[in-house]
Amino acid sequence: MDFTEHDSLAEFRKAATAWADEHVDPAWVDLEHTTGTHHNPELHALLGAQGLLGAGWPAQYGGTDVDPAYALAVFQEIGARGLRMDGWVTTEMVARTILHVATEEAKQEIVPAALRGEVVIVLGYTEPGSGSDVAAAKMRAVRDGDEWVVNGSKMFTSTAHMATHVFLLTRTNTEVSKHKGLTLLLARLDDPGVEVQPVHTLGGQRTNATFYSDVRVPDTLRIGDVDGGWGVMRVALVHERGTATAPGGPTLVEQVAAWARSAPGADGAPLLDDPTVAEQLARLAIDEEVGRLLGLKVRWVASTGGMPGIEGSMQKLHSSEAEQRRVDVLTDLLGEQALLAGDAGPLHGAVEWALRKAPVSTIYGGSSEVMREIVAERRLGLPRSRPIG
Ligand SMILES: Cc1cc2nc3c(=O)[nH]c(=O)nc-3n(C[C@H](O)[C@H](O)[C@H](O)COP(=O)(O)OP(=O)(O)OC[C@H]3O[C@@H](n4cnc5c(N)ncnc54)[C@H](O)[C@@H]3O)c2cc1C
Repeated sequence: MDFTEHDSLAEFRKAATAWADEHVDPAWVDLEHTTGTHHNPELHALLGAQGLLGAGWPAQYGGTDVDPAYALAVFQEIGARGLRMDGWVTTEMVARTILHVATEEAKQEIVPAALRGEVVIVLGYTEPGSGSDVAAAKMRAVRDGDEWVVNGSKMFTSTAHMATHVFLLTRTNTEVSKHKGLTLLLARLDDPGVEVQPVHTLGGQRTNATFYSDVRVPDTLRIGDVDGGWGVMRVALVHERGTATAPGGPTLVEQVAAWARSAPGADGAPLLDDPTVAEQLARLAIDEEVGRLLGLKVRWVASTGGMPGIEGSMQKLHSSEAEQRRVDVLTDLLGEQALLAGDAGPLHGAVEWALRKAPVSTIYGGSSEVMREIVAERRLGLPRSRPIG
């Protein structure tokens, strides 16, 4: 395994910090927390205009000559300042899937515009009646000449209120088994038949319920074969679980350790002088390091042309569960201070925010149970634990 990508980031850290100093408005973090929207259109447009979104992509589809390591350093710096880029994360997943499976026409229509920051794509897989069992989707798409007519609803369509397109998992054939009758379509969210309703979550994130009534999608924006949607989903889900970028800068545990160096414990001495506190923080730091290494493994498999399916599931499972262990320990450590939000709490409320976010992260992008099944079956060769649908 090769960690040089990580090393090469070091030389861009200064430039990335300077970029963020110049362009990132600190008020955007408060805006993200108050709205629950993890996408900033101004920042997204700027990243597109400056070629950062297109770094490392093929030139014929709008790739730029910006160094991908520099772009990654900038993205990590943005993350370290407390901003999420979910609009780009989902757009990137779908754009990568399009490059794998779509027609040349769809690639040319969507990918360059996505890399310029003009097209923002969100994921429309989950429905009110199907989440983990994503292949049970019921949304209907019926062919009408050169178009598809879509009816149905989706649940948890995050960032749909800020995006241009939604990547819809639809049912195009009801006569075959559930995995065989699916087709992926890229619908416009400004279609008059689309309705977006907000859903606010415990973690503070605003997501959406979306409703589709006779929404028309040209066949040119069908992504993959008719009824071949399950194969497309297998590609798309690998990109979802495997390619998230960890933010740069100090981790939450490192920040808490720095804080505990001077914050007084019950006896008035710094908290970190207590060996049990130091041991707990060390265990959490090890958890974070394992997560970082699993993330690097994913990136390494992807960068060598592989599909990091199992590696992505392992990383997603470990990191989201480690996040929960982390908030449990930090809550014990900080006591009631862990519940103080914003500037009232230590580290500007970072622990309180993490506390609300942690339960959600083991659900979206595939729940822990489902990730365990993937690792058990595909990595360890254990028998299937559920009926084949
Ligand atoms: C904040 C947030 C944002 C999201 N954003 C999006 C988005 O942008 N687009 C999108 O399409 N979806 C999105 N989702 C949906 C997410 O992917 C689903 O919530 C997830 O797949 C779980 O589906 P579900 O909620 O229907 O739960 P269910 O599938 O009903 O699961 C309920 C419980 O049963 C367990 N379970 C289910 N199947 C099995 C099994 N085979 N074996 C063992 N246990 C099992 C699960 O682990 C879970 O504990 C989001 C969810 C959240 C919370």
